[in-house]
Amino acid sequence: MNRVYNEHHIPVLLNEVVENLIWKPDGVYVDCTVGEGGHTRAIAERVLPYGGRVIGIDVDSEVLQIAERNLLSYPNVQLFKFSYVELPVLLSLLQVHKVDGLLVDLGVSTYQLKAEGRGFSFNQDEPLDMRMNLESELTAYHVVNTYPEEKLADIIYNYGEENFSRKIARAIVQNRPIQTTRQLVEVIKMALPYKEVHNRKRHFATKTFQAIRIEVNKEIENISKFLEFAPDYLNPGGRLAIISFHSLEDRIVKHAFKNDKRLKPIGDFISPTTFEVAENPRARSAKLRLAERV
Ligand code: SAH
Repeated sequence: MNRVYNEHHIPVLLNEVVENLIWKPDGVYVDCTVGEGGHTRAIAERVLPYGGRVIGIDVDSEVLQIAERNLLSYPNVQLFKFSYVELPVLLSLLQVHKVDGLLVDLGVSTYQLKAEGRGFSFNQDEPLDMRMNLESELTAYHVVNTYPEEKLADIIYNYGEENFSRKIARAIVQNRPIQTTRQLVEVIKMALPYKEVHNRKRHFATKTFQAIRIEVNKEIENISKFLEFAPDYLNPGGRLAIISFHSLEDRIVKHAFKNDKRLKPIGDFISPTTFEVAENPRARSAKLRLAERV
């Protein structure tokens, strides 16, 4: 499908990822969340000349088409429409037993936010969708219009860290059916006190939209599953790099790195510089954590 899209995604913590992930120039690296291919390209530049191998996966077939275009000058990069939760299946299909580095960027791609009709953005009026994988069944419409009030409130609280979660969940349930992102924004607005609605730092719908997106795409479940099996697919010395944008995700990554006997954390987390945040506000809450396979 051709959607209107005239922007590009700026990769977050790019140098920090490349410097820390690539320890063996002729190794095998998997970018588990290719997006528009920003990190993939930098990894390719660094390892392909030395005989390294780069595999990239994403669940979003439309984003992958953009990545393919952005990576035209790196025909050796192998791209696949796959979920990183199914990485073991892909590696076995490719007959790759172990790799030297795995990158997961838990953000949302600019394409998903800005291309018309994906339903991720509170700045546009679109059907409630928010699926990264366009073949999956669960949409934001389903979450918003069929989940029980209690479950919605918990999702908005846990995944959105929204203090007014109960009020928002109640307003949603009372105003069903909610068809579009604009309608959802209006319902959230009704549920919030004046001060929140006029908060200048952050749009008042940000947290609720984030929460619904995380639920629709099973983002917390996915990263938890990934962390269970990923160390088994790394060669000794192999590295795991995870960029999170949310304290719940970061906590999961931090604990896994600390408590997993197969892994040794490398330093503390890395945050973007103030310069990077000024250039790319989306980087604001990013945290990069690294671990090494012992
Ligand atoms: N690093 C990329 C941006 C990644 S944005 C760049 O520099 O361009 C995060 C991407 O992760 C999105 O494109 C999203 O579709 C993808 N994603 C989310 N969940 C996924 C999963 N389970 N498996 C594979 N990709 C996933």
